[in-house]
Amino acid sequence: MSEKTQGEILMEKLTFKRDNGCKDEKIVAEAELFCEGYKCFLDLGKTEREAADFAIAAAIEKGFKPFDRNAKYNPGDKVYLNNRGKSVILAVFGNQPVESGVRVAAAHIDSPRIDLKPNPIYEDCEMALFKTHYYGGVKKYQWTAIPLALHGVVIRADGTKISIVIGEDENDPCFVITDLLPHLAAEQYKRTLGEAIRGEDMNVLIGSYPFKDDKVSEAVKLNILNIIYEKYGIVEADFISAELELVPAFKARDIGFDRSLIGSYGHDDRVCAYPSLMAILNASGTPEHTVITVLADKEEIGSMGNTGLESAFLKYFVCDLANIQGGDGFTALANSECLSADVNAAFDPNYPDVLDRRNAAMINHGAAFTKYTGSRGKSGTSDASAEFVGKMRRLMDANNVMWQMGELGKVDLGGGGTVAMYIANLGMDVIDIGVPVLSMHAPFEVVSKFDVYMVYKAIEAFFKS
Ligand code: MN
Ligand code: MN
Repeated sequence: MSEKTQGEILMEKLTFKRDNGCKDEKIVAEAELFCEGYKCFLDLGKTEREAADFAIAAAIEKGFKPFDRNAKYNPGDKVYLNNRGKSVILAVFGNQPVESGVRVAAAHIDSPRIDLKPNPIYEDCEMALFKTHYYGGVKKYQWTAIPLALHGVVIRADGTKISIVIGEDENDPCFVITDLLPHLAAEQYKRTLGEAIRGEDMNVLIGSYPFKDDKVSEAVKLNILNIIYEKYGIVEADFISAELELVPAFKARDIGFDRSLIGSYGHDDRVCAYPSLMAILNASGTPEHTVITVLADKEEIGSMGNTGLESAFLKYFVCDLANIQGGDGFTALANSECLSADVNAAFDPNYPDVLDRRNAAMINHGAAFTKYTGSRGKSGTSDASAEFVGKMRRLMDANNVMWQMGELGKVDLGGGGTVAMYIANLGMDVIDIGVPVLSMHAPFEVVSKFDVYMVYKAIEAFFKS
């Protein structure tokens, strides 16, 4: 082998090189194994309620107990807090007092979808349909003409709760929002992409047989109501007190001849929720600092509501942990650090114009840190400090985590937000980290297995810090 030239030596020393991480067969094999569990999580936890149930069941199996703010805890004790079945906090007490700061991994378990309106069922042209209101940032045209499954809960007049999942078993029926045939779409083609399908027109087809009685009007609607009543004991008024969500009916699949990628509904943000959950469940021994995984709801609509991270439930939880040790909650918050685990946009060769190649996250380049999100002059972001980015960079390198920096689009072209700014409001140091996603918010999003695993390794390292 020839000697390196002076230029080559300087290049190595001075320049920052970005690289594909999938060169180590052992790591790739580990990533593939890790992602088998991830695919199960995707299929079993398509809604925030199902993902929360999954997390709680897995935590109980690992010895986590419901958190009791009047109890005493020792280092190594494991607790969980179930916030209304839609968000979950898991914690493992560390050797250091909580007041010295905790390590938080925060991800969200809600995803863009189609919600039913409070009064959804109607009949038109002898077909029965559901009225809907989309949830989160969806490109509406992507949600027509694909099989949809119905998930959620209904609270009946007597207060009993009925859980519903229809469309996931291949023998189940499913549902669909119809689209216009191209032959008759001349006017639709002229509309902008955003207006091609109008929100109020996203009505879901749910049946067409009439109830066999000539005396009733709207016999198709009646027939559907009768089927629903016979199966679930639900009447039309019960839909008012319900949370029913339509999600794509397909399952997670490997993508590519090499199976290096996963296509699925709901990667945003199960792809960070699962590594955050596994990192705390698999944590061996007692951590130095108390570690916390938060799986939050409502991120896709701005983190509002009492299950979203703009609410105070995480703050009160950390304060409680400090207080039961006789410590100060606000000091604990101020000393804490958080990885806000959420997805980033992967550079897509089909759409090279929207991302800055030099700063965008690449598929298979590992966990993507995002210093800032926001839009138009970094508006609406927490913008992690150089000191904290430096600390995380050292931590990742010391633990052989393949990482990269990402950005949510070119300047003034797009933008977005995560829970990071709400975490920052608590006084914690926080930076976004996550998996780069192709087709984000589409019914079928794509991620790389290697990147999923690197986010897991990143959070694992963070929890040991
Ligand atoms: Mn997200
Ligand atoms: Mn999102």
